[in-house]
Amino acid sequence: ERQKHIRNFSIVAHIDHGKSTLADRILEMTDTVSKREMTNQILDDMELERERGITIKLNAVALTYHADDGEDYIFHLIDTPGHVDFSYEVSRSLAACEGAILVVDATQGVEAQTLANVYLALDNDLEILPVINKIDLPSADAAGTKAQIEEEIGLDTDEAVDISAKSGLGVKDVLEKIVQDIPAPTGDLDAPLKALIFDSKYDDYRGVVLSVRVTEGVVKRGDRIKFINSGAEYEVAEVGINSPKPIAQDYLMAGDVGYITASIKDIKDARVGDTITIANNPAPEAIHGYRQMQPMVYAGLYPTDNAKFNDLREALEKLQLNDAALTFEPESSQALGFGFRCGFLGMLHMDVIQERLEREFNLELITTAPSVTYHVYQHDGEMLNVENPAEMPDVTMIKSIEEPFVKASIMVPNDYVGAVMELCQRKRGQFDTMEYLSDTRVNVMYHIPLAEIIYDFFDRLKSSTRGYASLDYEIDDYRPSDLVKIDILLNGDRVDALSFISHRSFAEQRGREIATTLKGIIPRQNFEIPIQAAIGSKIIARTNIKAYRKDVTARIHTGDPDRRAKLLDKQKRGKKRMKAVGKVEVPQAAFMAVLQTD
Ligand code: GDP
Ligand code: MG
Repeated sequence: ERQKHIRNFSIVAHIDHGKSTLADRILEMTDTVSKREMTNQILDDMELERERGITIKLNAVALTYHADDGEDYIFHLIDTPGHVDFSYEVSRSLAACEGAILVVDATQGVEAQTLANVYLALDNDLEILPVINKIDLPSADAAGTKAQIEEEIGLDTDEAVDISAKSGLGVKDVLEKIVQDIPAPTGDLDAPLKALIFDSKYDDYRGVVLSVRVTEGVVKRGDRIKFINSGAEYEVAEVGINSPKPIAQDYLMAGDVGYITASIKDIKDARVGDTITIANNPAPEAIHGYRQMQPMVYAGLYPTDNAKFNDLREALEKLQLNDAALTFEPESSQALGFGFRCGFLGMLHMDVIQERLEREFNLELITTAPSVTYHVYQHDGEMLNVENPAEMPDVTMIKSIEEPFVKASIMVPNDYVGAVMELCQRKRGQFDTMEYLSDTRVNVMYHIPLAEIIYDFFDRLKSSTRGYASLDYEIDDYRPSDLVKIDILLNGDRVDALSFISHRSFAEQRGREIATTLKGIIPRQNFEIPIQAAIGSKIIARTNIKAYRKDVTARIHTGDPDRRAKLLDKQKRGKKRMKAVGKVEVPQAAFMAVLQTD
């Protein structure tokens, strides 16, 4: 029946290996998108994705392929992000599929996330189709890349297809392989409905739009559905598929990937990972959902305008629906007022959330420097989870501190092993093992403090290996470290939002560096501003921002009114993203000064 003509698959790869470009060609060759509507990386429809040229969100699309056997097949294709911060999106996508196309760039070969994605696909029992991409490039080495896949991953490449996602060469063969090798979905059409929510987003008109994979039964407009975990019930307003624009359907059945809307306004009722069933004929149990992601880094987000606090809360709630890995809790800062402590999967994730809040919700924000979660053991026997350096208890209370470590796996050609090890040591890494992947490549594993990874580790790794190293990591365990909190005082007042945690051996140097950086960032004002760094009551570094020498505002009054207005306007815009901390105007960049290391 119809199920036999369905294929559900994801496209996975290391970042930049060509997933989104391959998705483009598939949409084009199946006439899903007309030539006129075609743009590059068409599924990356978020403005931010287009600007940065990266995929942030998974994107599901349905299309019809007329195969060589004369039959029409419905493909549900899910394009996924490649960056390690978004692997949560990948694992959710894979749970909705029977197969994965593994794209490997023939000019780069196997990289760290190639391997990580293969493991994710295997965890989900998917059929993996390796595809060798970019064979149009002169430096492409398809045979070498296949040998690498066999040797380093252990996948058979006899059937791997050589393609150019850019020109379309070989893509037709990939489509045929999908029909032949990826199993059709199974699932009982007569059983009670079971549909897994793998993504969702908020739409002002339709309410919550749920992306679902139906595993059993059928769902249609008018059905009264129930969310097994939240218990909420709604009447289905529409079911459909994205192609890539939403197209309403009469029903979705076991094996289908599509969307459901039900005028859901309360975001909490319909969480990603929940299972949908029919209220008066419910499935006995939920589909095993996803494990909730633990945020890796935390930062404070504060509206520059304190009156926007509630707008920020609403915006975070809506974004959280579209991004289940985001967490937030209200917090307050003496310096910044009321805001939220938000948890992210990494720095790119944090960056993306901040940008989306500003663009999609029209907010202007101050973000504090990110921090990891520390375990602080006190003399009184209590253990605190500290996500905000400002909340670190007094030094006299602390017995010991532990910080999170990651297990980092770095793939690199032999020649650069020395450089990699040197960098890892400098970042307080502890050597684990080294594995030879082939005669010329190794996988170096280190335990490294997460706090060191999130800052600039990746950039430094790339620059010290001429771009050859690739990195993947996962949270490992907590280990004791000799850490101290450093406070920054402006004009004699401690600014809580500028406090940070450092290893004791770098503390004085870091204190000096940051005082100097802040001196360059905070504009001069009409009085002198001392900047100090302190551990407890001990000052470890100090410098001064000199006062203006002449009174600039006096000159404005003498000018013509037009010019004066312009000047004031310019000043106002310059103050954007400034926050008055006591008497001192502090720009956004100051709160990130902590991230700038040597
Ligand atoms: P993704 O991160 O895996 O989604 O990769 P993209 O599809 O965004 O592609 C990354 C870059 O590689 C883009 O600049 C593409 O134009 C380019 N690219 C993708 N496929 C090919 C190909 O077959 N040949 C060439 N020459 N470039 C390609
Ligand atoms: Mg992409």
